[in-house]
Amino acid sequence: MKRVCFILATLLFSAQYMYAQPSGYKKLDKWVDTWKTGLQTYFGYPINQKSELHDFYEWYLTTGMEVINLNNAGDPMTDEPWKMSSQAFEREVIEYFAPYYGFDINQVWGIVTHSGTDGNNHGIYFGANYLKNKTKMEPILYVSDEAHYSNMRLAHLQNIETRLIKSDKMGRMIAEELEKNLDTSRPVLMIYAMGSTFKGAIDDMEALNAVLDRHPEIPAVYRHVDAALFGGYLPFTQYRNMVSQQAMHFESIAISGHKFFGFDSPSGLFLCTRDTYDNQTNFNVTYLNSNMRMINCSRDAVQPLKFWWLIQKVGAEKWSKQAQQMLECTKYLKKSLDKIGWPAWVNEYSNTVFFRRPSQDIVSLYTLAQGYDEHFGGELAHIVVMQHVTQEKIDGFIEALKNSR
Ligand SMILES: *Cc1c(COP(=O)(O)O)cnc(C)c1O
Repeated sequence: MKRVCFILATLLFSAQYMYAQPSGYKKLDKWVDTWKTGLQTYFGYPINQKSELHDFYEWYLTTGMEVINLNNAGDPMTDEPWKMSSQAFEREVIEYFAPYYGFDINQVWGIVTHSGTDGNNHGIYFGANYLKNKTKMEPILYVSDEAHYSNMRLAHLQNIETRLIKSDKMGRMIAEELEKNLDTSRPVLMIYAMGSTFKGAIDDMEALNAVLDRHPEIPAVYRHVDAALFGGYLPFTQYRNMVSQQAMHFESIAISGHKFFGFDSPSGLFLCTRDTYDNQTNFNVTYLNSNMRMINCSRDAVQPLKFWWLIQKVGAEKWSKQAQQMLECTKYLKKSLDKIGWPAWVNEYSNTVFFRRPSQDIVSLYTLAQGYDEHFGGELAHIVVMQHVTQEKIDGFIEALKNSR
């Protein structure tokens, strides 16, 4: 009897996870199948395919939260958050992460954003307002030519004069180029790329800060760090100082939730100093009982709950292990490519390996992202080593490369 019960329980358990109920919509079920088979080989983009939100969804549905319809419109860091929101949890998320990004807990302001881009939007908007408020002058934005395109797009959207600074071969902004292009009579809005898109380069903030420090005549400086991907894992490594506000003296930082943290839909974190917040324009919106400094009115109330959930369920210890594994597997991938003589490069601190582009079969089989750079012989591809890219899968990839020659 016991045995039968055990078998039944096992069957039920596996039925729940392995044979998910079909939706009854053929097209949808077929589409789901394509994802189940494609999962092993998703190498080219910085998403964590080991999402740990299963329990969250179970909790969410069994409690019937889906009909409550909360909205986080308003400021989560006030002492009177809006009632129909999850802002109390959002605030806890910001206060949990603040020390990991080197912020003084009493001097931080932040929100859970809709994405890394949303965080950059706030960084640029807050930066420009901060500088205008302090100097009564229009700032100039400086960003490397290898930074994520969202920064250029947002600078354009916000109508901010922008100078694209050349980066070196490996993708880092060149300090001398910044100095050459610097207009020291105007406020400086610096964007630091923490993870250039293709090569995974990190701007050398210390070297670039040194350039700015050499020019005390600059009316005011604001530094925003675009750390969408690397800002997820670096706080949990020995390189944590690189994303530390106190060590690097930036004013704000943006991180994505759907990259390292494994959210199943876009989300992110934006953190800034209180000084930044205090230098924003007031938008008093009485019906929200709030001073609306953030750009969006409605904001997602579920994503902060997911973040809060992951802090409890995964947390720093496990994130540290994942970060370490990712960096080890990155080294392993680079070494394996070296071993078969396949030209490959990787930046320090980075989990992104770029290499000579293989055949189109392999590019599509592994969903590799493609790039082009004459410095490295032209056609390139990259792998972003996330949690699901294990040594075993790397071995499979290397075999495929060898067989393709
Ligand atoms: C992914 C990424 C972005 C864009 O972030 P989203 O969350 O996709 O909007 C911006 N900057 C960098 C460095 C990125 O890696």
